[in-house]
Amino acid sequence: MDGMQALVVEDEAKAATFLSNGLSENGWAVDIANDGKIAWGFLREKRYDIVLLDVLLPGIDGWSIIRQMRANGIPTPVIFLTARDSLGERIRGLDLGADDYLVKPFAFSELMARIRTVLRRGRDTTPTSLRIADLELDLIRHRVVRRNQPIDLTPKEFALLLLLARTPNEVVGRRVIAKEVWNMETASDSNIVDVAVRRLRRKIDYPFDKPLIHSVYGVGYVLGER
Ligand code: CA
Repeated sequence: MDGMQALVVEDEAKAATFLSNGLSENGWAVDIANDGKIAWGFLREKRYDIVLLDVLLPGIDGWSIIRQMRANGIPTPVIFLTARDSLGERIRGLDLGADDYLVKPFAFSELMARIRTVLRRGRDTTPTSLRIADLELDLIRHRVVRRNQPIDLTPKEFALLLLLARTPNEVVGRRVIAKEVWNMETASDSNIVDVAVRRLRRKIDYPFDKPLIHSVYGVGYVLGER
C-alpha cells in the first residue's frame, strides 16, 4: 500500500507508536495526532486514505471528529478504536459514519485486514454518476440525460460538462476550462471556450425551460440551478 496516507488519532503514546510503526512497515505514511484538536487541524489540511480514530480523546472526542468530518464533506474512511466492547459505543460510531471499528486490544494483522476491507468497499462506492438538478451524467458510459431525455455530446462537450458538474454552483474560470478540456495555456484561447459553451447550452439548456449553465461575466461559467 505504497503512497497511502494514514492519520492515527490516539492519545496513548504507546498505542499511537504501535499503530504508526506497523503502518509504516506496511508502506504507509503516517501522521499522529494525540488530541482531537490537532486531529481536526490535520484533517482540514490534508487528504488521508484512512483515519484510525480513538473515541476518548482530550480536546475534541472521536464522536465529534467524525461528525465534523462528515458535516464538512470529508469522505475519508474511519475505523474507530474503542476501548470497551460496548455495543452502544459501536453502534453510535457506525451511526455517525464510521466505516468499521476495532475493540482494543487487537492484533495488528486484524487492523490491516479491516483497512483493506474498508478501502476495497470505498472503491466500490465511488460515484458512477453525477446529478445536478434534472441533469444526470453517467461517468462510466459518458452519457448524459436530462429529464429522461438522452443528450448526445461530443467527447469535448462531455469533458466540458463534467468539469462544470464536478463543482456545481461554483464558477469555473475560462482559463481553467481551456487548460482542463483543451490543454491550452493562454487567455487568447478563451473564445474557444465561449463557442463550446454556447454549443453545449444548445443541447443541455435550450430544449428545457430551466437553464443550468450560467455565465459569470468576465470570469467563466457555473453549472447549477439559479
Ligand atoms: Ca484515549
